[in-house]
Amino acid sequence: MSKTEFQIALLPGDGIGPEVVAQAKRVLDCLSQKTKYNFICEQYPFGGAAVDELGEPFPQSTKAGCEKADAILLGAVGGPVWDQIERGKRPERGLLAIRKHFGLFANLRPARVFPKLVSASTLREEVVSGVDLLVVRELTGGIYFGEPRGLDKVGDETLGFNTLRYSESEIRRIAHVAFQAAQKRRKQLTSVDKANVLESSELWRSVVISTSKKYPDVKLDHLYVDNAAMQLIKDPKQFDVILTGNLFGDILSDAAAMLTGSIGMLPSASLNEKSFGLYEPVHGSAPDIAGQGKANPLATILSVAMMLIHSFDLIDLGRAIEKAVENVLEAGVRTGDIAGSAQSKIASTEEMGDAVVRELEKILGV
Ligand code: NAD
Repeated sequence: MSKTEFQIALLPGDGIGPEVVAQAKRVLDCLSQKTKYNFICEQYPFGGAAVDELGEPFPQSTKAGCEKADAILLGAVGGPVWDQIERGKRPERGLLAIRKHFGLFANLRPARVFPKLVSASTLREEVVSGVDLLVVRELTGGIYFGEPRGLDKVGDETLGFNTLRYSESEIRRIAHVAFQAAQKRRKQLTSVDKANVLESSELWRSVVISTSKKYPDVKLDHLYVDNAAMQLIKDPKQFDVILTGNLFGDILSDAAAMLTGSIGMLPSASLNEKSFGLYEPVHGSAPDIAGQGKANPLATILSVAMMLIHSFDLIDLGRAIEKAVENVLEAGVRTGDIAGSAQSKIASTEEMGDAVVRELEKILGV
């Protein structure tokens, strides 16, 4: 019998983190009440909140809570209060530590332009209207981690160097994630590399091609990274899933995010080999608006949709959340960050949560 009960570790973190996570939890509670599935949420301190309470950003008790969960939902960490403390204890260190602890090597960042928010983009409407793509970035290898690295003295000059290395197994495991994500979408995968110059990219391309044999239903093509950057701005609608390494993915995922123009709308997932995932909005803790009920909770709510799709295989329920968000936007509900100048009423964080839950109930037919 397939699983109907899921444990979720909630790490609200700092700034607007607790505000947006609270609304995402309401969505999970709604699904628990209205479907045969039960989503049990336990909350743990993380980031600056954990530094204040327990002296470190990713304390043992939080680690233990996450280990017994089926997935993690994180708000955001950081803020000026913790910028002065010793580097190793800063909230952002918690993020690196949790990624490392769970081996979260696959970063999934969708960029979708909702029809009603098309004017938020800095690009022309006909270019971005209908964009719906996913960047799958390798997160724990490549040049950010390769050895040797460092600074050397050569004669009277200083030399800085890093190593770009990927093993076959590292490439294959991220390729599987990307092919499987494509199978759940429009079944089109573009692998991005620099195989005309880099040996590591030559290997990347050949491993992606050999992995593709297992996914005959997914159409695979390849682009060099420079061309991919151009195509992303010129005609982003051509993409469904983009697969790439750590360095290229860092840059391309931010470029893709900016097609949408609204940081409060962007969810993300970081997965390990068992599809265990950490789900979080792309934005930070936004100290400038924290505690004022102004934060847009949709990125976090859409991160819950990703959790249902990628970690729990509850694709229909994930799509139902996405549809509820789309309907709320169609109905004109807007937090300040996505409101145009003509918007007469600005929704608070909680009012946006209310609207999504109401729509979700309608979609679920209850
Ligand atoms: P930020 O994303 O927190 O904020 C950038 C701007 O976007 C701000 O004007 C903010 O008000 C706005 N914004 C962000 N999310 C919003 C939302 N949901 N609704 C409405 N407006 C929103 O980036 P920042 O200001 O560079 O960083 C603030 C803190 O967050 C720093 O301490 C930084 O280290 C941390 N940070 C954490 C993460 C994370 O937890 N993953 C990511 C990025 C930054």
